Amino acid sequence: MSEELIENQRFASVKIGSRLHWIAIHEEEKHFNDNSRPQIKVCGRTLRIRANHMFTCLPKCIKSAMVAHELGHLEYQHHLELANPFYRYGMTVQGKVSEREYQADRYAVKLIGKEKYVKALCDYIVATQSQGISKQELEMRIRKLNKEKS
Ligand SMILES: [Zn+2]
Repeated sequence: MSEELIENQRFASVKIGSRLHWIAIHEEEKHFNDNSRPQIKVCGRTLRIRANHMFTCLPKCIKSAMVAHELGHLEYQHHLELANPFYRYGMTVQGKVSEREYQADRYAVKLIGKEKYVKALCDYIVATQSQGISKQELEMRIRKLNKEKS
């Protein structure tokens, strides 16, 4: 596990292609609403991707996929928009994938390839024992990616 402590902040390094990305691991994990499962997100208006400790325990291929997805949110500047968790929840209930999540998924596919990315999403469901609405959303995202031509 490549993890480093820099000025009291823990970072995990994740390689995507030939690029190394440094992800800040949030010790207090107060930015995350569920610390019993691995989470990663672009926090506030910073360009830094933060993850909770559980993230560091995941296999490399899942970590890369999660980082690639967050890089997609950064690319489309979703971190500057107002996040409405109810919107995403509502979309899932209606059986739809939110536009933001789809854009981030498409970007991740560009970075690491569809086969690897879709496999990582499937592995994530198993590794985190995803259930309920979050599992439903992941499965819909996988189906949507699988449907389109690569
Ligand atoms: Zn996302």
